[in-house]
This record gives sequence, C-alpha cells and structure tokens, in this order.
Amino acid sequence: MNGPDPLIIPRAQHPISRRNISLNVLKVLAHLRRNGHTAYIVGGGVRDLLLGRRPKDMDVATDATPTRIKKIFRNCRLVGRRFRLAHVHFRDEIVEVATFRSPALEPDDASAEPADAGAVPPSRLDGIVKSEDGLILRDNVFGTPEQDARRRDFTLNALFYNIDDFSIIDYVGGYQDIQDRRIRSIGDPNQRFIEDPVRMIRAVRFAAALGFTFDSETHAALLAHRGLIVKASSERMFEEVRKLLLLGSARPVFELLHATGLFTLIFPVAQGALPAGEGGWYYEHLRRVLDWVDARVAAGEPVELALLFALMFGPLIERRAGELSGDETMSAVTAYKQTVGEFVAEMAPSVRIPNVVGLGIRDILSNQWRFHRNQSRRAARLLRMPVFADAWTYFRLIHGSTGSGPELCAWWESFLQGQAQPDGAPAAAGFAPPAKRRRRRGRRRRPGPGKGTAAPPDAGPADGWTGSGLSF
Ligand code: ATP
Ligand code: MG
Repeated sequence: MNGPDPLIIPRAQHPISRRNISLNVLKVLAHLRRNGHTAYIVGGGVRDLLLGRRPKDMDVATDATPTRIKKIFRNCRLVGRRFRLAHVHFRDEIVEVATFRSPALEPDDASAEPADAGAVPPSRLDGIVKSEDGLILRDNVFGTPEQDARRRDFTLNALFYNIDDFSIIDYVGGYQDIQDRRIRSIGDPNQRFIEDPVRMIRAVRFAAALGFTFDSETHAALLAHRGLIVKASSERMFEEVRKLLLLGSARPVFELLHATGLFTLIFPVAQGALPAGEGGWYYEHLRRVLDWVDARVAAGEPVELALLFALMFGPLIERRAGELSGDETMSAVTAYKQTVGEFVAEMAPSVRIPNVVGLGIRDILSNQWRFHRNQSRRAARLLRMPVFADAWTYFRLIHGSTGSGPELCAWWESFLQGQAQPDGAPAAAGFAPPAKRRRRRGRRRRPGPGKGTAAPPDAGPADGWTGSGLSF
C-alpha cells in the first residue's frame, strides 16, 4: 500500500521537545538506530505530547522484528499473543517496542510470507484471522511505517515522532485533526468499527477526555454500528470500561456514551432507569457521582472499581434488594448477595466484572443499614471493618441528603472526629486493622434493606459480619 508521501512537520513547526521524552525511550530509539533500524515514537504518546499533556507511556515502533529486537537488547522480553511485542526493561520503566504492522488484510491474502528473519518487513507471521462477521481475531502481520500508521484507529493516534531530525511524520492527516480537535477514523469508519467495535468506546474516551468532537462520517458510523459493541470480548470491555471511567473524565464519558446510545448497550442494567435524552433522576444521579469520581481522580486519590460500580448502579441494586427482602423474611446480606450476583451476571455478556469486584459491591451495599445505628460501640465496630471507607463514602453520597441522612452523616462525622488520632490524623483516612472474622453460631435474622434505601435506623442486630468469603 503506497500512498502519497507523508506530511513532515519539522521541529520548528511543532511544540514537542526532547526534554519531555523519557531518557529510556530516547536510549531505545538511539540503540535501534545504531543497529541500522528505523524507529519512531508512535501513537498516544505523540498525541499527548502535541497536546501538552503528560503521556501515560510512550511506545516505540520499528522495522526490527521481535526476534531481532530481542537480540539487540539484553534487557528485553517478548510478550503478547495477539501480536508479539518487545518489552525493554529499565530499572524504573518498561519501554514497549512493536514491529511495524500492516492493516487488516483478508485472511486469504497471499502477498506476505511467514518469516521472522530480523529483516525489514513486510513479512508475515501467521496472518490476520477474521470471524464471519468481519471481526479481527488475530493480526500478526508485519508492515511498512505507512501501513503501520494506517492500521491504527484514529488519525490523532497515528503520528510518528522521528528522533533523527525531531520531526513528526503524518501519513493520515492526524496533525491537522489535532489542531482542529477532531476524532476521525483512519479509512472507512464503518469498516473500522465493524472490524473492532471497541474502537467506538475508544472514540468516546478520546472525545470526552480531550474535549474533541467527532468528524461527521465517524459519528454517523458510530451511531450506525453501536449495536456491535455487544460483540466485543467482555474481558476487553472490562479493561476499556476501567479506562473510560477511572481516568478523570467519567462524567463527560458518560454523557457522550448516553448521547450515542452506547451506555445502555454496555450497561443493560441501566435500561429501565435511563430513557433517551438528558435529565431524569438516574441521569442526574450518574452525573453527580461521576463528578465526584473525577474530582477524586484529579486529586490523585484513586477510586476502587467496587466503589465506582456501587455508586453508579447501587441505587438500582438497592431497589431490587428492597423488593426481595420486602417481605421481611430475607436478610440484607442474602438479598444483596442475590441481587449483586444478578447484576454481575446481567453485565457479564457485555462487561465481565471480576468476582472480587462483585464481592466489593455487595459488601458496600449490604452494610449500609449499619450507618443507621448511631451508637459509638457499634460504630467503632463498623469503623474497623475493611469495607468501612467505601461504605461510608457510599452512604454520604447516596443517602446523605435524604430522609434522616443529614443527621446521621452529622453524627458519623462527629464520631469520626472523636476517633481522630492524637496527632490530628482523621480516623477515617487509614482506618483500623481489618476486623477479625467471626463465625456465626446458629442463624440470626439480619435486617433486610429498605425499599430503595437502607434499612430503618433501629433494624436488626449488629455483629461483626465482615462479608468476606462468599462468592456468587
Ligand atoms: P492511552 O493514552 O489511553 O494509552 P493510546 O492511544 O496510547 O491511549 P493504547 O491502547 O495505549 O492507546 O494504544 C496505543 C496505540 O495503538 C494507539 O494510539 C493506536 O494508534 C493503536 N491502537 C490501540 N487500540 C487500537 C485499536 N483497537 N485499533 C487500531 N489501533 C489501535
Ligand atoms: Mg498508550
């Protein structure tokens, strides 16, 4: 595939300085060049440097094959099944080095041959494998720099930084799209989204995080093919969802996912509560809690996935649990074990939530009733439970402003102040060591969750149940 010459943006016309590039990445580039190979910084790293953002990582692409890379670098390991990558290890950093790859070819394309002789590509390892509906399943095909640029998802992610003359090499119009703050698929967006539906989620992430808009064809294709998102692997979707929601732009990500109709496709549990368009209690709820999540991330305080999902979907789960235990025969723990299990199972076809996250969600929700028991002895016991921090955050954010919430929050806040360490460190920061697990002898009834809220203040006995050890 030989298109027109790339656009070269010389050093004087772009803002990327070598000073913003990690020394290890510079070493890798220099070593590859010394050994006669082409090597560029590629992808998200170049994009972020151009936008004046600190890149999460900087990837290198080269015409050296993986075997050759391994030979040149002593501190190198080959990884990856879908595509072989080299990891060059330094004391404090791993630099990822990939061989230039070609874009999706038809499986019966015979132009490339299987080889890994350390020679300049294109050569073929074992080719691209697509499913009947066009999904790429495996794509181990080496290519030229131009092919490598064209197989990438969006133009803003396909720029190369050339250390030889500090220029940017642009095969796809990405430099202009970054200036215009535009997300544009490389090639036919319909085909690109059909090949890999996860690209739709990536488009939303970049648009929301960078404040970019969609190019009109890319937008139309995304709307046309959004239903395909359910075909993406649910493990991969879990990783994407983690990036979508925990990198500081969860609120704009949500708004864009909802506007494009992707949100309820990815999270079918929200379907009944989230009609199309803006507004409604659940829409406002999501905006509010995701604003809080973004503020935490901005302050450098990571949010655990269990808390994130509890905040997002807890009110829906609490409703269901409330209905289940409404007849007073089911304990909160049992009701939440069942409803959180159902929630995780319902999500599984689109987003595979690991068991440990499901258990975390359950622990946060099934302990909410304890915040209604404002006696110091019992409060101290709750404070010692490992789930306390997340459960308290949930209580404050979800129940803190309704019913008896404000008074209960005030009581708990003054209780926590009283528990503060002598040096002034708040007790609610580090917390006590994990509570000892207590075996329950005989069966005692646990209070059920109230309908749509936590159990009433005087509900049920409080013992040291820590909620660990159960699985769905
Ligand atoms: P981030 O800042 O989140 O790491 P990124 O653009 O670097 O963003 P990565 O997932 O690290 O994203 O991928 C690195 C590069 O690989 C991308 O910039 C893009 O060029 C390419 N890429 C990633 N995912 C795809 C995909 N699904 N289809 C085509 N190209 C992709
Ligand atoms: Mg990256």
